Amino acid sequence: MSFVVTPPATVSVPVLGTTDRFPVHRIYCVGRNYEEHAKEMGFTGREPPFFFLKPADAVVVVDAGTTGAIPYPSLTKNLHHEIELVVAIGTGGRNIAAGDAEKHIFGYAVGLDMTRRDLQNEMKKQGRPWSIGKAFDHSAPIGPITPKAQAGDVNNAEIYLQVGNQDRQRSNVSKLIWSIAETIEHLSAAWELQPGDLIYTGTPEGVAAVVAGDTMVGGVSGLEPLTVTVE
Ligand code: MN
Repeated sequence: MSFVVTPPATVSVPVLGTTDRFPVHRIYCVGRNYEEHAKEMGFTGREPPFFFLKPADAVVVVDAGTTGAIPYPSLTKNLHHEIELVVAIGTGGRNIAAGDAEKHIFGYAVGLDMTRRDLQNEMKKQGRPWSIGKAFDHSAPIGPITPKAQAGDVNNAEIYLQVGNQDRQRSNVSKLIWSIAETIEHLSAAWELQPGDLIYTGTPEGVAAVVAGDTMVGGVSGLEPLTVTVE
C-alpha cells in the first residue's frame, strides 16, 4: 500500500519541561464565553455555549522562551487578537459530566484565536459559516502545554494580552460564562472528544486589531506565556 499523495505531518505541541509532544487531533473553539466580550460583540448575558472549529494545522507552535511569527493573513483589513486559555484533552469520551471533566484533561496552554474580524462580521451578517474569519492558516498560535499537575489553579488565573507593553486584554478565567468543566460537558455531548483535541475556551473583552510589526505578549498565570509577532 502506498499513499497517492504524501500524508501530512502530525501537528504537535511541546509539553513544557520535557522532550515529549502533544499530537493535535482537532481544535474546538468556544464563542463569546466571557460576559464583557459578549457585550463588546453586541450580545448580552449567558446564552448556551456554541462552538466552531479550526483545522489542526492552523496551529503555530511557539516554543518556551521564544517569539513566534505569523504572516498578516490575506483578504482582511481587521486582524484581531483573542487571547485564550487552551485545554488539551488527554482522554477522550462522549457525554462527559462536568464533574468528571477534570479526568479527561492532560494540560493547559496559552493560545491566540486570531480572527479576520471584518470577514467574520460579513459572514455573520449574511448568516454564513465563520470559517473564512476564524479557520484560516496560522490562526491558532499556541505556547507549550503545561501538564495539569503543574499548572496551578487555572480556573482562577489571570489572563492578559499586551501589544507593545500596553494592556489590550486583562481578565480572569473565573469570569468564563461556561467553565472549563461545563464546556467539556457541552462539547462532548455534540462530538466524541479524542485524545489530542485542543479546546480554545474563549476570550475576555478588549479584542482589537493588530498590524504587521506588532508583537503580542499573552499569558495565563501559572502557564508559559506566549509571544507572537505579526509579519
Ligand atoms: Mn475566540
